Amino acid sequence: MTELDLRRDIIATCLRMNASGLNQGVSGNVSVRLEGRMLITPTSIPYDRMLPEEICSMALDAEDGAFEGPRPPSTEWRFHRDILRARPEVGAVVHAHPTYCTSLAMTRRSIPACHYMIAVFGGDSVRCADYATYGTEQLSLNVIAAMEGRSAVLLANHGAIATGHDLANAMWRAVELETIARQYYNALLIGGPVLLTAEEMQETFDKGLAANYGGIRKPH
Ligand code: ZN
Repeated sequence: MTELDLRRDIIATCLRMNASGLNQGVSGNVSVRLEGRMLITPTSIPYDRMLPEEICSMALDAEDGAFEGPRPPSTEWRFHRDILRARPEVGAVVHAHPTYCTSLAMTRRSIPACHYMIAVFGGDSVRCADYATYGTEQLSLNVIAAMEGRSAVLLANHGAIATGHDLANAMWRAVELETIARQYYNALLIGGPVLLTAEEMQETFDKGLAANYGGIRKPH
């Protein structure tokens, strides 16, 4: 893929994010690793008017948020950059405020092993990162800590982040995360789910879903 293809793919992913109901307005943002840089959506432009040349480019080792492009990056550039820095296996990051993920995150709940598909996020849960103001270094630190050994995370009173080896994989995971969040939410309404045991989750990992689902890793 050329850089122009990647820029177009970022815009297409944003449009899919809204069409799928995963996001509303321009609150979501998307980034992709490109060599030592990240390409990231600019702040506050409706996705259907966003042009490939308006996607921001930021060096991953830049300390001050310096960017190239006609518009500033998403206000959440810091956790995108810090995830790409801390997790070399991650090639793309999708952030949005999906209704069910965000509802759970408002109650500061993590998602437990209520369905075996939780395994596609790398372990037996998706944690909820502690609250910090959007765009801050503290939020980024909380995200990195709660994502330890996982490919996704909820953000307290905010939303969710899903990652993948590429944009399609990250977007797929974002949809799976909202799906399991919705199922868990509904199960809570009717008395609460029976959770899978550690052995049952291990059997799921041992079946090697990684081949089908793009990179499950065994829990540590
Ligand atoms: Zn947000």
